Amino acid sequence: MARTTSRLRLSDIPVPPEIPQQHAGSYRLLAKKRIQLQGVITDTSQVLSEQRQSLGGDLTDCAGPQIIEGVQLSLLQIANGERQQVTAAIATLRGETAERVYGECIACGKKIPKARLNAVPYASTCVKCQTDAEKGQQL
Ligand SMILES: [Zn+2]
Repeated sequence: MARTTSRLRLSDIPVPPEIPQQHAGSYRLLAKKRIQLQGVITDTSQVLSEQRQSLGGDLTDCAGPQIIEGVQLSLLQIANGERQQVTAAIATLRGETAERVYGECIACGKKIPKARLNAVPYASTCVKCQTDAEKGQQL
């Protein structure tokens, strides 16, 4: 299945004038990510609704489709959560959030390393704070 979004080149993504020049690269990464996530969300929603239609909306006695539906729903949840983070990061880039500066850790206030932002352009914490937060959640 050839999707047009996977062939989208970063350099083809227009950067709005309100995005600071030094963040143009991050903006493009975020914009591309958002387009990809939108594709995942649209596809997954479509698969879900087709599956429900083909089963006549009755999933109660079918374990297989229920499992598939569960997987699709988790995918959808993950994609939606990621899209929210991407949207929040774009708002930060635009300077719409006074309390957050793009590229700064929301926990310790230090600059998030460029390598991390390239890998996770919507990261709002540095690796150390992220790790600390995850440890905290596990306890
Ligand atoms: Zn930090």
